[in-house]
Amino acid sequence: MTDTFHQQIATLIDEIEPGLIADRRHLHQHPELSFQEYETAEFVRQRLEQLGVEDIRTGVGKTGVTGVIRGTAPGNGGNVLLRADMDALPIVEETPVEFASCNPGVMHACGHDAHTAILLSAARVLSDSRDRFAGTVTLCFQPAEEVPPGGGIGMINDGVLEGVDAVLALHMAAAMPTGTVAIAPGPVMAGGDLFRITFQGKGGHAASPELASDPIVAAAATIAGFQSVVSRNIDPMDRAVLTVGSFSAGEAFNVIPDTAVIAGTYRYFSEDTGKRIEQRLTEIATDTARGLGCEAIVEIIRGYHPTVNDDDMAELARLALVDALGDGAVKTAEPVMGGEDFSHMLRAKPGAYFVVGCYSEVDGVNYGHHHPKFDVDEDSLAIGVKSLVSIALRWLEQNKEV
Ligand code: MN
Repeated sequence: MTDTFHQQIATLIDEIEPGLIADRRHLHQHPELSFQEYETAEFVRQRLEQLGVEDIRTGVGKTGVTGVIRGTAPGNGGNVLLRADMDALPIVEETPVEFASCNPGVMHACGHDAHTAILLSAARVLSDSRDRFAGTVTLCFQPAEEVPPGGGIGMINDGVLEGVDAVLALHMAAAMPTGTVAIAPGPVMAGGDLFRITFQGKGGHAASPELASDPIVAAAATIAGFQSVVSRNIDPMDRAVLTVGSFSAGEAFNVIPDTAVIAGTYRYFSEDTGKRIEQRLTEIATDTARGLGCEAIVEIIRGYHPTVNDDDMAELARLALVDALGDGAVKTAEPVMGGEDFSHMLRAKPGAYFVVGCYSEVDGVNYGHHHPKFDVDEDSLAIGVKSLVSIALRWLEQNKEV
């Protein structure tokens, strides 16, 4: 972008900032759970219609909304998809803000209200700048990011990626101060699956264990064995975690139960590591149980893939962010063990996922994601818009001859 165009974009974003904040507050006040984003989708649809966005589709992947903005500058150009997630969490809000949730037990505690408002404002800026780019911007408002395997798969199945060349998404980051953003090439968020293991033994009297096969002992030995998976089976330079989060068995002090059930999750940054953990936990559970006279039934429930940025897209995004926000604002993202639905789109298309700092000590906006007092520093919203627009325009400029 030229310096004057940069300035025009910055001025436009300043002008629309009050509307951006109002949109975010409206969305915050009216949160909806995963796959129930009906009012949110209607709000988005109306906004897109007001902007003259073309090909608006609702009900995509159940409650998703899409639309396109076509540039009018010479050239065919490529097609870049910008994605925001719209769903809230089953949390009772405890913030003191006047726009706190009116939907009891449901709260935007991860910042998806901010993501949706930011993408609506980015759509407005790009819509006002159609004559400055060739190519297409696809807007994608997706449902159900919070519930693996997520709402992204349904949107992909409904064709949202058809004709799309590259994908972009952002997330607010409570761990980073407002004014900073972070991006990195390669894996930025973990893949993660869930497991449930049922140990089938033979119950009996607690005082006659020789007549029983105790599934509690088999489950406990298995959990102890699991502690060796990351430490003994994974390359020390790699990163992974395996946690048992639930153990249920037995009801009485003097009864050996028939079954014990454990459940948990494992996280990884490469598909190979994920497969290795799955293989090892299955072997340890099966063989430990057998050795102790029980049988282990292992169920794996697929979650998100690792979120892996394309190297070229991450570099393009980093350069655009430095251009828009200054060198000092742009950090290198550290991989985190959380999972992200955007991983599905990033497996299908080259793209980048980056984070926008929203922490402010001054405003007391200092609670983590998914906390009942989570709030974003609203100064971060305009930074999100500027970031998204800058990366999209830089990509469109680079792909205008496609
Ligand atoms: Mn989130």
